[in-house]
Order: sequence, then structure tokens, then C-alpha cells
Amino acid sequence: MTTRGNTNLPGPNGGIDETHDPNLRSWVESANDPNTDFPIQNLPFCAFTSDDLEGTWSFGLRIGESILDLEEVHRRGLTKALKLWNGSHFAHAMLNDVGLSKEIRWLAQSLLGHSGKLASSARNAQAGLLINASQTQLMLPMDRVPNYTDFYASIHHATNVGSMFRPDNALLPNYKHIPIGYHGRASSIVPSGTSFHRPVGQTSPPDSDPSAGPGFGPCKLMDYELEMGCVIGRGNDLGSPISIADAESHIFGLCIVNDWSARDLQKWEYVPLGPFLAKNFATTISPYIVTMEALAPFRIPAYERPATDPRPLPYLTSDANTARGGFDITLEVHLQSAEMAKRSMAPVRLSKGNFRHMYWTFAQMVAHHTVNGCNLQPGDLLASGTISGPTRDSRGSMIELTWDGDPFANPPKLVPGTQRTPIELPTGEKRTFLADGDTVIMKAYCEREGFRRIGFGECRGTVLPARV
Ligand code: MN
Repeated sequence: MTTRGNTNLPGPNGGIDETHDPNLRSWVESANDPNTDFPIQNLPFCAFTSDDLEGTWSFGLRIGESILDLEEVHRRGLTKALKLWNGSHFAHAMLNDVGLSKEIRWLAQSLLGHSGKLASSARNAQAGLLINASQTQLMLPMDRVPNYTDFYASIHHATNVGSMFRPDNALLPNYKHIPIGYHGRASSIVPSGTSFHRPVGQTSPPDSDPSAGPGFGPCKLMDYELEMGCVIGRGNDLGSPISIADAESHIFGLCIVNDWSARDLQKWEYVPLGPFLAKNFATTISPYIVTMEALAPFRIPAYERPATDPRPLPYLTSDANTARGGFDITLEVHLQSAEMAKRSMAPVRLSKGNFRHMYWTFAQMVAHHTVNGCNLQPGDLLASGTISGPTRDSRGSMIELTWDGDPFANPPKLVPGTQRTPIELPTGEKRTFLADGDTVIMKAYCEREGFRRIGFGECRGTVLPARV
């Protein structure tokens, strides 16, 4: 066994080690496909159930088209190699100890790699150890989400949306000083593939007659929000802030988040306390947690603030965060209408962007979230906020994609909320917002010269008609 650092913080190579070697291959042939999201260099965590598990579930690692069942690895005595393993349930142990996630990465590579004793014995006795992913049902990857916080870390998104609602004052004065966030609803976080009914609720009186009462009925402006989620591993005690220097050692990994949003409900309810029923009816996450270790080769400097922007306060600043607080993750949103599905037409891509354009990093969000002593818990989800880039085709929501305004025009050229160009689908159908039967599919992946491509799988959900 190679000696591995037991610190949770990346070493001098930024956490890049022999587990990222692009030449590593697996005896699981599907993992060697250059286009797979799940080569042996990735190994994201998931929770799954299958007919064989008879109502119970297990925790595993995705590899190619298969899942390595970690519970079965344990039953076979193979976890004896793990120094940090205390025998508690994988989901909980893993989240509580980022060091263990590194050890499991090493163990899984030894089991699934091309050479060595462990690999040949695993290959010879793979029945039960390796399960075909298509024969499983994937669940929330962290088993349970105790708390959910949603941020607003894309300055492009904040500027676009701010321009629609406050044309003269798009970015509020706090934006460049505070990672803005609100507490979301954890109970309605659902795994990829879950459908939900269009929400019903109150909407504002018409602009033409502000004295009329509010409307009530199915949401008319149904939208998605493309976000990345940060899954908290080790928590902190109530009253003990996490410093920015320690922030990343509390992050287990990342997943994709779709923060479904009912824009008409939001417009009426959000003043003065922020989103409520416009957001809490469903939030979809992708079924895999890609670990911080797997992401090491794809770390980049934090967003470079223009010299005229204020410096963040010291508790939000560190050299390490400036040098490598960002992530180079490509993000895509695809849509398939019910009509497209009926005609077997492939989903169409609506946008393509990158997580590198975020104004605030996850480390800054963690430090800010806890600076007052708030306690984060294992499995908590911190979502980034809608990820929009500087160009129209990199906007991460429909309210932005179909908006014709120019957020950088001063004063804005258009009357807020009035000028929209619908998106035309290959069937000829048009969309300004989502229709019933629409399926939204989000994808995320990392690519870098000299490294294997890794991906996050899909974050998928379908809007069903309102229950009226
Ligand atoms: Mn959001």
C-alpha cells in the first residue's frame, strides 16, 4: 500500500496524485470508454436499491455502467484495509470523515484497476460486488439532507434578474460584500428522475389593475435553475465558525441541483423575506456526489474581481481560495417536450456554461454561512445559485434565456419583463417558460488536457400538470 497523506487539505500538487493518472484503466470495460462520465478516476458516491436488496438500500461507487456495492465490499472483509473505517454505516461515516473518502478512493481503485491481487480477486468474484446500474434505482446520494441553503453566487444571474425587476438598480449594494443566500426546504429535495406536479398558488394582481386582489391557480411561469450543490461532510459545532482556510475540509463533494422556480408565485411573495412557496415544492439533485478528491485536477483560481470591485472582508479571503477556490465544470441544460418524447426526438440543448464564472466560491459560502456560529451538519446541501455566464447562451434559467434585455445597458433599453423571444423546439413548439410534460435534463462534466474526463451524470425531472 502506498502511503497517503492523511490531511484533508490538498498537498503541494493541489491534491493531484496517482489516483488521477489518465492511464489508469479498469477491468470494468465500460469505464474505459473515453466519453463515460464515470472512469476509474471519478468513482462518485451514490445510494441505490434494486430488486435483490428487497426494499433495503445500499451505498456504492459508480464505475462505467456499473455500481460497486460498498456494503458488499464490507461484508467480504475488504474494508479491513481502511484505517479510518469504524464500521458505522457508510453514508454517515463517509460524510463525517473526508479522510475516509480518500481511503475508499484508493481501495476502490485497487479493486477495480487492471493490476494487483485485489483487482484479480474482485474480478473473479464480481457477482454481487458489481451491479449493473440500469438494474438499480438511484436515491438521494447522501441518504438524507438535514438542511438546504440556496445561494445567489453568479453575478451574471444576479445582474440579469435584478435588471428585470429593478432596471435602475440591478445589483443591490450588499452583493459584492456578502454571499447572498436563504434557507431552503430540505424535505422536498428529490433524486433525479422524479416528476412533480406544477405548483398552485397566489400571484400578484395584474400590473394594469394593482388594486385588484391576487390571482390564484396553477403557476404560469414555471422555470428551472441550473446550480451546483456542495454536500457538507464533517459538520461544525453550534457556535464554532468554520474559517475559510478550513472550509474545503468540510466539503464532501459536489452534485448538480435544479432549483425549480415558479416565477409568478415568486414575484408576488418574495418581498420582504425572499422565496418561499415559489421554490419549496421540489428541488432535484443528481444521484452522484463527485468527491473533492476526484475534482482536484479541475480546480482553478476563484473569479477574478475587477480592480474597481471591493475586496471581500478578511473572513472571506485566503490565498488558497484565491489561487484555487474555483472549479472548471462545464454545464449544459437540455429540454425534451412531451411531443418530442412521443416522436422519439432527442432532447435539445438550451444552454452551455461553466461554473468558473461564479462571483463567490463554495469555500466563501461555507465560511460566511458559519461566521455567526451556525452549525452545518453532515449531508447538508449548499446550492450555488443559478449559474449564468456572460453570454446569452450560458444563462442558467428560462427567465434569463428568453429575456431580450441587456443587463449591461445603462439605462436598460427595455421595459422590465416585457421583451422576450421564445425558444423554438424542433417540433415547432415554442417555450418562454416550461409547459406540462417538459423534461429538463442537466449535465455537468470536467475536461482538462492530460486528465481523464469525469462527469456528474444527469439531473432530470418532468413537470406534470397541476393537481386542480
Ligand atoms: Mn436558486
